[in-house]
Amino acid sequence: MRETATEKGRRLLADGRCQVKFATDADVLATVLGATQLYEVKWSRNTGWACACPELRGRCSHIEAVRTCTMRPVGRLAEQAPA
Ligand SMILES: [Zn+2]
Repeated sequence: MRETATEKGRRLLADGRCQVKFATDADVLATVLGATQLYEVKWSRNTGWACACPELRGRCSHIEAVRTCTMRPVGRLAEQAPA
């Protein structure tokens, strides 16, 4: 059975491979250590999700990992982010 991007993303998180640099209500920047390489994952309110990996179709597991650990109800990220 093939692992979905969401499941793989959760596994990356559980393995501690996701490092969030910052997360505000307008921008997110994180890195995810994939099987062989470190990928930069970005989100911005204007452009949405982007990942540096070659999986261009749909959402990759790196984006799913970062999304799972950063996305909260819109408007609350900024106040919850550490100073
Ligand atoms: Zn990716």
